[in-house]
Amino acid sequence: MNNPLRIVLAEPRGFCAGVDRAIEIVERALTLYGAPVYVRHEIVHNKWVVGDLKAKGVIFVNEVDEIPDGAITVFSAHGISEKIENSARLRDLPVIDATCPLVTKVHREAQRYEKEGKQIVLIGHEGHPEVEGTSGRVKQGVLLVQNLEDVAKLAVENPEQLAYVTQTTLSVDDTKDIIAALKSRFPAIVGPELRDICYATQNRQNAVRDLAKHVELVLVIGSTNSSNSNRLRDLAQEIGVTAYLIDNADGLRPEWFDSIASVGITAGASAPEHLVQGVVHAIGLLRPTRTEQLQTVTENTRFKLPPEVTGDRPLRATAT
Ligand code: SF4
Repeated sequence: MNNPLRIVLAEPRGFCAGVDRAIEIVERALTLYGAPVYVRHEIVHNKWVVGDLKAKGVIFVNEVDEIPDGAITVFSAHGISEKIENSARLRDLPVIDATCPLVTKVHREAQRYEKEGKQIVLIGHEGHPEVEGTSGRVKQGVLLVQNLEDVAKLAVENPEQLAYVTQTTLSVDDTKDIIAALKSRFPAIVGPELRDICYATQNRQNAVRDLAKHVELVLVIGSTNSSNSNRLRDLAQEIGVTAYLIDNADGLRPEWFDSIASVGITAGASAPEHLVQGVVHAIGLLRPTRTEQLQTVTENTRFKLPPEVTGDRPLRATAT
C-alpha cells in the first residue's frame, strides 16, 4: 500500500484521575517511607503498572494476613470491605487508602440507604474487587445483579424498601436497561440522584464509539483483567468494527494491517500512555503512518492525595 496508514488516537483515553492518584500514592509512599510497601490487590488492573511497581519495591498481596506487622500498607483503587479495613486496624498496620473517591462515594451511598432501612441492590460484575468492597460496606450485604435475568429472578425482603447502587466502571448505557427493569419490577426502588458512573468510564466509552465509526480496526490497550478495557473492545465490536484488546506492542500481529487504511487506538483507564505510544511506534515499523487525534471531550478531573503522602499528616497505625 502506498498511502500511509491513518492512526487515529481516541481522546480521552488511558489513565483516569483515580488511577493516577493510586499510582502516585504508591510512588510517594516508596519515596517517603522506603521499600517494601505492601499493596493489597493489584493497585490498578494493569500488568505493566504492577510489574513496574514490583521492580521498585512494592509487594502485592491478596490478603491483609500476608502483610508483616508494622509494614506500610496501601489499599488499591478498587476499594475494600469494612472487614478488611478492620483486620488492618486490629493489626495496627499503618495504612494509606488509595480507594478512588468515586468508589468511596458509592460506599457512602450504600451505607446511607442501609441506615434508612433499605435493602441494597448492586449492579456490577461478580468477583470484581470493587463489588466485593461495596458489598462488604453494608452489614446485610447486597443483592448483586449483573443482567436482566438477574433482575427477573431477584427475591427481595420488602419491595417498598429497596435501593440500588452501581459499580463505577459500568457506563450509563451498561446500566440503563437494568435500572429500567428494576424500576419496572419494584416501582418504589430508589437510586442515587446522580448515577454512580464514573466520568472517565463514560468518556472513554463515548470516545471509542466515535472512534469505531471512523476506522477499520480498533486496538484497545489494556490488560485482560481490566473490566473497563474489555468493555471498550466490546463496544467497538458492537459498532461493527474488528477490535482487539492488547497489553502492549507485543500483542500486535503484522497481518492486521495488511489491507486496511485506518486503525483507531484507545486505552483502558489503567493503561499508561507510553504503552499507547509504543504501539504507535511499532505500527510505524510495519508501514508508513500518519497519526491524528479524535477528541470527544476535555478532561481535567484531579483528586486530592491523602495527607499521609503529602507530608500534611504523619503515617500512623490505624488503631485509634
Ligand atoms: S475508572 Fe473511575 S472509578 Fe475507577 S479509578 Fe478511575 S476515576 Fe475512579
